[in-house]
Amino acid sequence: MNVRKDFTILKQSVKGQPLIYFDNAATSQKPQCVIDELNSYYSHYNSNVHRGVHYLSQLATEKYEQARVVVQQFINAQYDREIVFTKGTTDGINLVANAWGLENLGEGDEVLISAMEHHSNIVPWQMICQKTAAKLVVAPIDETGELIIAEFEKLVSSKTKLVSITHISNTLGTINPVDKLIEIAHKNNAKVLIDGAQSVPHLNIDVQQMNCDFFVFSGHKLFAPTGTGVLYVKEDRYKEMSPYQGGGDMIKDVAFEKTTYNSPPHKFEAGTPNIAGFIGLKSAIEYVQKIGLNNIYSYEQNLHNFAFDEMSKISEIRFIGTASNKASVISFLVGKTHPFDLGTLLDQLGIAIRTGHHCTQPLMDLYKIPGTARASFCFYNSEKEIEFFIKALKRCIKMLAA
Ligand code: PLP
Repeated sequence: MNVRKDFTILKQSVKGQPLIYFDNAATSQKPQCVIDELNSYYSHYNSNVHRGVHYLSQLATEKYEQARVVVQQFINAQYDREIVFTKGTTDGINLVANAWGLENLGEGDEVLISAMEHHSNIVPWQMICQKTAAKLVVAPIDETGELIIAEFEKLVSSKTKLVSITHISNTLGTINPVDKLIEIAHKNNAKVLIDGAQSVPHLNIDVQQMNCDFFVFSGHKLFAPTGTGVLYVKEDRYKEMSPYQGGGDMIKDVAFEKTTYNSPPHKFEAGTPNIAGFIGLKSAIEYVQKIGLNNIYSYEQNLHNFAFDEMSKISEIRFIGTASNKASVISFLVGKTHPFDLGTLLDQLGIAIRTGHHCTQPLMDLYKIPGTARASFCFYNSEKEIEFFIKALKRCIKMLAA
């Protein structure tokens, strides 16, 4: 893929070696077009949205709302009003937990998540369950890191009000069969939230076809600025939600006696948003669309399979997460070496991988490990980088054995 030229950051050396960035599941790098868009906003039309009659404000508002339409089309939502701009996946889940959860959960109700969830799809539900006396239920996974569908099915009942599940595990790389899970949940009248933080940068998303009730993702994993995120709300769900935060923009009229709210999505976007960030998100999506998500997916699958095959030849490596349907994320351990030590050694060779629990501590407890080393690939990575990484891994293993 001829995309390296678009990412200035990848041209640098780290510790005297060309940077190899394999921490894409944590955050992705930004193409020049996104950086230029931020520069253009701040240089030419920095202004607040939805408030001014003046030229700059109107231009900023137009571009900001265009971003909403681009997001709508990108995930194939039916209406642009179904797109709520947030700070990220975490913010989106907290919004649903508070705006929908507080209204619709009570004693005897259940929220079903899975054993592979990121903390941001666990803790908000624990907090809401505490407030509403609802129960948090966890669907189990098998040793390969796949959700056990039969067990999931058994856990969905008339008590289940919401299933909140990740599309792709950030630690294991498992791609969950979300269409099937949504069908099972809906048969039982449960609503479904899909955490798309790890899927949106790699897979075509069609929320209408998926038929989820909520879908969340972060801009920064999709080559857009940090502090941007999207919450898709199926239109019917809006009537079950109350505003989560009060302030400017989310109101129609305010008097000391009574306030009337704006209509969605603005009702859920109190305060000045990350205007430049969302304009950058529009540019990032257009960039991804130009390459094509199908091309991205197959290129990254090849990278993953190449790396996985090469790593499999190293006897000291143990993989954590070997699901049959997997994204370009490889979590692993090397003998008894602590992942931090391995990460530090690889850093000396200019290779950035992730080490630790990846905000999935309950999953680490399940595997009885403190954490993993994780390499996650993106379309701007290459087989050549993986070859260097494999050599570096072998070198580290030798050093650790010495
Ligand atoms: N969910 C998953 C699966 C993730 O991988 C992440 C981030 O790594 C999050 C949620 C949280 O995303 P953010 O920190 O951008 O809100």
